[in-house]
Order: sequence, then structure tokens, then C-alpha cells
Amino acid sequence: MAGGTEDIEALIDIMAKLPGLGPRSARRAVLHLIKKRALLMQPLADAMTGVAATARECLTCGNIGTSDTCSICSNSERANGQICVVEDVADLWAMERGHAFKGRYHVLGGTLSALDDVGPEELRIPKLLDRIRSDGVSEIILALNATVDGQTTAHYIAGELEGSGVTVSSLAQGVPVGGELDYLDDGTISAALRARKAF
Ligand code: ZN
Repeated sequence: MAGGTEDIEALIDIMAKLPGLGPRSARRAVLHLIKKRALLMQPLADAMTGVAATARECLTCGNIGTSDTCSICSNSERANGQICVVEDVADLWAMERGHAFKGRYHVLGGTLSALDDVGPEELRIPKLLDRIRSDGVSEIILALNATVDGQTTAHYIAGELEGSGVTVSSLAQGVPVGGELDYLDDGTISAALRARKAF
């Protein structure tokens, strides 16, 4: 290979670590960026620098935004009494794309896993129970993945809320076994939410 390309190779190596990109598509993406330096590459670099400095977790729900309270938690038009519980921020963003849910969210940050030694304290479960006790929550909608760990987590949360007077429901059909919420189309998410059932 011609000399003087170390920086470009280093960029390709970093890009290849992104989900969905391997070395081959990273190389293609970098070449495209260089060709579109002013139109695409510089704005991308600026945007990344900006977000790298400002992105943070919402202290209430765990969503990612640019302030301590995310735009959903600070939106007074959203129902306080309903909390949709998801595993990951990607699931929250998938739910939002469907525009079907008008309540608030809680991101657990994973699922309980005996194998990986993940207990309730490692997730944002204690924080969820605190919110339910102090925020006048009437319904919890469990939108957890249909994996074994996802369902174990759902049962654990439902168990913790037994006798609390809070309605616990879960997304209806449409969440594929072992599949992730993020891969469902918006219409399927809305339908699964409308047809949610008592857990
Ligand atoms: Zn939030």
C-alpha cells in the first residue's frame, strides 16, 4: 500500500468497530466520506464532537439526551401515571418511532441474568420501584424482549409490584421470540401496545 495512509487506515479500523459495519463497508464508508469532505465528512466530525461532549443519561429514566432530564421526562403533556419499561435505549427509541405511547419510560440497562451474574441492583430496577412509589404511577407496561432473560426480568418486576395496586401489563403479540423491539416496524409496535394484556 502507498505510504502516508496511516491516518486513513486508523479511521477505517475505528469505523469497522461500529455495529453493522465490517472492514469492507468501513473502507467504503471512509472513501465516500473523503470524497464528500465538505458536504458530509466535516459536518459529521463536528456533530460527533458536539454529541461526544453533551450526550448523557437522563437521571430519571435512563434515556440518552443532552441534559440531566430528557425531553420525554420534562414534557408536561406526557402522562405521568404510565411507565413503559424497556431493556435498552434502542427499545425506547423504537417505541417513540411508533408515536403510540404517550406516557413515560424507564430504561433498565439490560436484563437479569444468572449466567452473567446480573442482579436487580446492577439494573435500574431499584430506581424504577422508587419512581413507582413516589410518582403516582398507575400502570407499568413491560416492553421487554421475548428472550428467557427478558421474561425472567418481567416476572421479577411484576412480583415486586404484587399488592401495590399498580396495574402491570405487557406488550401483546408481535414481539418475536428472541427478537429485539428495535427490529419491529412502527405499526407492529403500535398494535402490540394497543393490544397489551395484563401480566
Ligand atoms: Zn428521562
